[in-house]
Formats: sequence, structure tokens, C-alpha cells
Amino acid sequence: MSKLKIAIQKSGRLSEKSLELLKDCGIKISTSNRKLRTESPNFPIEILFLRDDDIPQYVEQGVADIGILGENEVWEKDKNITPIRQLGFAVCKLCLAIPKDEVYTDLSYFQDKKIATSYPKILQKFFNEKGINVKVEEIGGSVEIAPSIGLSNAIFDIVSTGSTLLTNGLKQVETVVESQAVLISNQNLDEKKQAILNRLLFRIEAVKQSSENKYILLNAPNEKLNEIIALLPGMKSPTVLPLAEKGWSSVHTVIKEDAFWDIIEQLKSLGAEGILVLEIEKMIL
Ligand code: ATP
Ligand code: MG
Repeated sequence: MSKLKIAIQKSGRLSEKSLELLKDCGIKISTSNRKLRTESPNFPIEILFLRDDDIPQYVEQGVADIGILGENEVWEKDKNITPIRQLGFAVCKLCLAIPKDEVYTDLSYFQDKKIATSYPKILQKFFNEKGINVKVEEIGGSVEIAPSIGLSNAIFDIVSTGSTLLTNGLKQVETVVESQAVLISNQNLDEKKQAILNRLLFRIEAVKQSSENKYILLNAPNEKLNEIIALLPGMKSPTVLPLAEKGWSSVHTVIKEDAFWDIIEQLKSLGAEGILVLEIEKMIL
């Protein structure tokens, strides 16, 4: 039977979330023994644990059919693969930083400057598009110390909190691009593998939808029912059931979590009571 081979990061920031996503999709995986490949007992998928930097190449060559990694690595490696879907985790920014006592005006600051980075392609492309000439110094890691040891004038790297920058006497001056985890695919999947991928995508969709949405129940006085319903953008329209107490109804619906926090005050001022917000485990639209 045909199996879909998925490459995920062996160890690092993406590993746990990648496995969690597969598990949330109902795909069982045993990760007990530190094997570099494993099969799921309940879904036609084989998991390959690799270094994230190598995933674009393996997916291009078909060693793996699909993979999960940061968009930053996808852009940097620039292989012939198809990005399928952003996954919403491992969100980070790729930024330019300079010594903190330097006066910064705009991008022209970088003209003829030397910039150390592990992402030379992304950086070069960015400055080419801006028509600014820079010298790109490629290094593998510990990019933040490059200016203080005289290797470069500036750095281009992933920034999350900025505290690593500060302790190395740097300040962030530009965000070049934002990245998150993405599912990528080989460009020549056969029909059987494509069908498995479609099944997987269907499940990913259900998992993602459910994490963004909440099921809400509330009690509403009947005279305010129409106003309350107008505030609730449901999947179709909310379910309204009469309560045992006369003049009151129970309203059930599904809404985006962020939308909920925006309307909660209005719901209360219209007299809504007993508001319950519940997790949705899976959601199929
Ligand atoms: P190595 O290859 O040496 O294991 P790496 O930097 O490639 O190191 P991780 O640090 O695990 O590996 O990062 C993997 C991916 O997670 C990055 O490519 C990026 O997409 C994302 N990432 C990196 N740093 C952060 C961060 N601080 N916050 C959120 N996501 C991040
Ligand atoms: Mg890596």
C-alpha cells in the first residue's frame, strides 16, 4: 500500500509542534525509541526525522513527499517545491540589527556595510530589490556576536524577544520578513500520494478551524434576542432554544475566539447571562 512520507525536524523548535499537529489529526505515532523513521499504525504515513535545513532538498528530490519547516528555510533554500499551507506555529521575524549606539535613519544606512547572516539568499534578494549594495557575510550560527568581534557592521537574523540582541550590544532596526511553519510538498506526487495528502489536509483544516473557533452558549432575554443574534456571526445561524423560565432563551453558536472578546461587553449590556465558552475538538465546515 502506498504511504506518504513526511519529513519533520528531528530536534528543535519545530519538532514538538509538528508531532502535535499530526497527533491532533488523529495520526498515531510512536516516538519512544529514538528512531529516525517511523510509521503510523492508523494512517498511511511514514515520518522521517531530519534536520530542518535539509528538508527542502529532500522534498525536492522526493526522498520525502511532504515536509514541515519554517518558511525562512524554504525561502533560503529556494528549491523546487510547492508550499501547501501555513501552519500558524513557529512564528518569527527576520530582522536587521546594528550596534546599539549607532544612529539609524533608514535602509540607506546599510549601503556598502558588511552584514553577517545565516540567511544570505533572503538578505541579498531584499537589498537587490531596494537597489542597495551590501556585503553579505554568511555564517552558520552565533550571528549576534559578529559585529563585536569585528566580522561585520550589522546582522540579519531571527529575532523573537530581542533580549539576545541587547545582551550583545545590538538593536533591531528593520523587520525584513515574518515567517511561520509551513507544509511543503514535492511537485510530482503520484495520484495515490496526492489522495493521502488530501486526507491529511482535510484533517489539518479541521484541527486549525477548531483551534480558532469557540462554541458559545448564553442565556438571553427574549426581548433582546434579535439584537444579541445580530452580534453573533455563527457558522450558519445560531441555535435558539426556549428555557424553562418564561421569557428567556438559550443561544448556541460558534464564533472566532478573537471576535468573542470584542463582543462580550455588548452581549452583557444587552442582558446576556450565563455565558459559556467551550473548546471545540474538531470542526468540519
Ligand atoms: P539547527 O539547524 O542548528 O538545529 P535551527 O535554527 O535551524 O538550528 P531551530 O532553532 O529549532 O533550528 O529553529 C527551527 C525553526 O523555528 C526556524 O527555522 C524558524 O522557522 C523557527 N524559529 C526559530 N527561532 C524562533 C523563535 N525564537 N521563535 C519562533 N520560531 C522560531
Ligand atoms: Mg536548522
